[in-house]
Amino acid sequence: MSTGTDGAPVVELGTPLVGGSTHRTAGQGTQGLAGTDLDRPERLAQVRSGELGSLHSWELVTAVDGPGTRLTVFLAGCPLRCLYCHNPDTLEMRRGTDVTADELLKKVARYRGVFRATGGGLTLSGGEPLMQPAFVARVLRGATEMGVHTTLDTSGFLGAAATDAMLDDLDLVLLDVKSGIPDTYTRVTGRELAPTLEFGRRLSDHGVAMWIRFVLVPDLTDARDNVEAVADYVSTLSTVARVEVLPFHQMGRDKWDELGMRYELGDTRPPTPELVERVRDQFRARGLEVH
Ligand code: SF4
Repeated sequence: MSTGTDGAPVVELGTPLVGGSTHRTAGQGTQGLAGTDLDRPERLAQVRSGELGSLHSWELVTAVDGPGTRLTVFLAGCPLRCLYCHNPDTLEMRRGTDVTADELLKKVARYRGVFRATGGGLTLSGGEPLMQPAFVARVLRGATEMGVHTTLDTSGFLGAAATDAMLDDLDLVLLDVKSGIPDTYTRVTGRELAPTLEFGRRLSDHGVAMWIRFVLVPDLTDARDNVEAVADYVSTLSTVARVEVLPFHQMGRDKWDELGMRYELGDTRPPTPELVERVRDQFRARGLEVH
């Protein structure tokens, strides 16, 4: 679900293993997080309990995926099939590497000094992290116990899988609202819009801070009334700190070919600066802080 597009400096990367999600090609490795070698029933039991997760990759980044310098962890698996997904290699959970929550938390602990110095923390992204709710809950709990700022980067489609205890352990949610008109949302993602809207309302009621992300794709999500619907919805939420309008780009295109998947946006151009400003102004008109 990660969406940043602004090419922020990558501080440290793991071994080359491309990952990431919505809009930013990201997540460069699993270095330092060894896989496990369990038989199937044992593995399933550990996945259910949240001890074990399927991880695509991780990276250390600054100025994307939340404030400060962050360890962004890309979990494998996603129920959506966004036409513009920049990391289609994160969509299948079976492509991930098994990692234990303890092992991941040890890695988080090693960066505590960096997080403190920069106001950063841990971001769980994907894929869709809520595909693995028990693992996410466990990692968020462990990070919170360490005093590390936590962020969840999600489409919200599986928001019902997030417990209230999980919300208590979240400092920030990056919520992708991929369209405001239900039919457009389904055209973009293959799924329904309603669960995302419900999750956003729940986060707002629970007092969880949000950054809303909207990927602007010409001839797909750019219709004025589609943007109005997103902006109207966002303006009803009380904990939104900012809205990020992310211009579509073609950076993930080759991966679709490599995976033998049909890419529908081959002829789509990035939005013009004028279109980006028009859309940003639609959000600003509601008094929202827009990036
Ligand atoms: S398909 Fe999943 S990982 Fe890709 S952009 Fe959509 S929500 Fe993100």
